[in-house]
Amino acid sequence: MNHITPFFVETDWQTLLRQSICNIDELLNEVKLDSSILPVSAQAATDFAIRVPTPYLNRIEKGNPNDPLLLQVLPQPAEMERYPGYSNDPLEELDTNPAPGLIHKYKGRVLLILSGACAINCRYCFRRHFPYQENQLGSQQWQQVLQYLKNDQSITEVIFSGGDPLATPDKRLNNMIRDIEAIAHIQRLRIHSRLPVVIPQRVTDELCHTLASSRLQTVCVLHVNHANEVDTQVAKSIAKLQAAKVTVLNQSVLLKGINDSVDCLKNLSEKLFTYGVLPYYLFVLDPVHGAAHFDVSDNDAIALVNTLQTELPGYLVPRLAREIPGRPSKTLLSLT
Ligand code: SF4
Repeated sequence: MNHITPFFVETDWQTLLRQSICNIDELLNEVKLDSSILPVSAQAATDFAIRVPTPYLNRIEKGNPNDPLLLQVLPQPAEMERYPGYSNDPLEELDTNPAPGLIHKYKGRVLLILSGACAINCRYCFRRHFPYQENQLGSQQWQQVLQYLKNDQSITEVIFSGGDPLATPDKRLNNMIRDIEAIAHIQRLRIHSRLPVVIPQRVTDELCHTLASSRLQTVCVLHVNHANEVDTQVAKSIAKLQAAKVTVLNQSVLLKGINDSVDCLKNLSEKLFTYGVLPYYLFVLDPVHGAAHFDVSDNDAIALVNTLQTELPGYLVPRLAREIPGRPSKTLLSLT
């Protein structure tokens, strides 16, 4: 008699990416809410598409219009308001864009826009208006990037950014990392990604093998804003990265109505550290058109982090910072 052993085949990340929710009605239906009790804007979703992958969707509390994960992805009428001081390019990155796909703002570090795609569209994203089309890294542009890196011996760290750089397929990532490794003065690779959080299945064995076998010291900076974003699948993806010799850090954005309380920030730091992830930066909002409703004033932000300092050991308190165009580094907000 034949015994068929049942087994569970996990859906791969690219399928999960394709299955993401891309319209408001579907999202509201999934979270069991009605547009009569929740302000939504079809125009906002046209200006900046809605995108929510199912692993993230599953962590949203159904029937809760104030769920902190839902509010990060829900297109709202407030996005259509315009305020002085806000713009499409708040960090003036287009002034530091010497070659397509390459941003060189700070000494010793270069940021590469590997992909314009994201697995999730965060409504507060400072690159929500970024001209990704003009910054695609085709093979010719990639050679230009490599030449730029070779020519400048002061560059010791390459940062993969986006969009989400891990939206790039494994094979291509592997080739890119091998090309960068061949440049002797580059020592570190930093990957800024939200994919291990919103689709944890993205941390594949192939990706881990590429990272583990690289001569570059690798840092992965996750983007988690609320403790509810971290579940056992995310913990697994973090553990896989750590097993691949990757230092895993986290950065968050301080967002009104989502994580602007001492309890939220404390829970987040403590939960992340349960999995060995250290908080790195807590950014105040970049003034990008469409995101003003998430803004927390500097005074409130400083007061929050001052209190956080009294509640947590120093290594669990992220640095409160903002990016000011033209400055040679991030600017820390002074605490008392
Ligand atoms: S994942 Fe990052 S780059 Fe993509 S929309 Fe969210 S904040 Fe922006």
